[in-house]
Amino acid sequence: MKKAAFYTLGCKVNQYETEALTGIFEKGGYEITDFEQVADVYVINTCTVTNLSDRKSRQMIRRAKSMNQDAIVVVVGCYAQTAPEEVSSIPGVNLVIGTKERSKILDYIKEIENGRDKINVVGNIMSAMDFEELNIDSYQERTRAFLKIQEGCSQFCAYCIIPYARGPIRSRNPEDVVTEVKRLAEGGFKEIVLTGIHVASYGKDIKTTSLVDIIQRVHAIPGIERIRLGSIEPMTITEDFIKTAKSLEKLCPHYHLSLQSGCDETLKRMNRKYGTEEYRRVVKLLKDNIPDVSLTTDIMVGFPGETEGEFEKTYRFVEEMGFSKMHVFKYSPRKGTPAASFKDQVSPDIKEKRSTRLIELSDRMAKEFNEKYTGRTMPVLIEQEVRQKEGFIEGLTSNYIRVLCEGDEHCKGEIKDVELLKIEEDYMIGKITG
Ligand code: SF4
Repeated sequence: MKKAAFYTLGCKVNQYETEALTGIFEKGGYEITDFEQVADVYVINTCTVTNLSDRKSRQMIRRAKSMNQDAIVVVVGCYAQTAPEEVSSIPGVNLVIGTKERSKILDYIKEIENGRDKINVVGNIMSAMDFEELNIDSYQERTRAFLKIQEGCSQFCAYCIIPYARGPIRSRNPEDVVTEVKRLAEGGFKEIVLTGIHVASYGKDIKTTSLVDIIQRVHAIPGIERIRLGSIEPMTITEDFIKTAKSLEKLCPHYHLSLQSGCDETLKRMNRKYGTEEYRRVVKLLKDNIPDVSLTTDIMVGFPGETEGEFEKTYRFVEEMGFSKMHVFKYSPRKGTPAASFKDQVSPDIKEKRSTRLIELSDRMAKEFNEKYTGRTMPVLIEQEVRQKEGFIEGLTSNYIRVLCEGDEHCKGEIKDVELLKIEEDYMIGKITG
């Protein structure tokens, strides 16, 4: 039996797509093996979000070839899409596919087996009109499923290469979403995380559906007990959205509202489509209406031109918002984006200092948030055993508190009532009560 191995860089969408590709290979008669093992085909699903991601992608391509000189090396994903010639010229690469045409991967491999040396099928993604269906038929885990419902982004934030790697917004057909969720529910999944490149755009291209509509359809599927939204743009949260959200008990009270900066001048240079006043209003709407809501976000420090004063505005703003967690990134210029050539690039040591301050603030806010739940009993979806803590299992509350408690693998995939006893680092220790 021929063997295929996969390596995935980047985001949850890439992980979803690798799972789908794995299924295509399994159906095609391949055995799936570890990337560090000898295989006949290596697939590297690349990322291009920073220059470092490109470098890592190249490293993994070379690593694949070193595992087996005779292997077919396939490079797919965002880096392949934005730099197909560069990828194709890396010694040992046989097949380059970008962010579409992935469903034909085995046909192209056959052509290589029949004597073609190199194939590059990367086309112009900016003219892509359809959502490429890549279904997942079998799953390794049986707890939370990340489900891709949307492709592409048309926002063109000044620092981001993704619109050029993924093309314009395309929504997955709602019937296909429902079919896949039903299959997931039958497979024992209790939580669905709706994900995509720009989830907030879901339905904007096909008009017959919307984000709220797809949430409602998923909500109606028996067996699914939780629906979580991947990262969304703040302006998705309107009064109408809140009205519906309040009536959907399976919708997790956890919103990852991408912020990037808490300073209006910086947001404007970033070409983000909201200001702090709108963001503040959205946060108030959520906090006033959704009990136990937890808000998480992404913040970028050191965007070109970010002065000390601008950073202070961000610091004060995020503190005021009271996030339960923040992902803090240091800006790094991405070739091919407008911001890479902006004046006043911020020095690495200033970025480092700002990042450290915000991470400290994030830790403090996480603690303050978790503290409010000490003594409370909350339903926790148990995901896995804890490697470093024998006899312990871990999972998430619906409002995204990570909880560790004593238990065994039989609890995996179950929603248990857990009393939250104390805070430890960025998680809580609990005790199963029911
Ligand atoms: S919204 Fe902005 S940051 Fe997010 S993928 Fe689109 S362009 Fe990139």
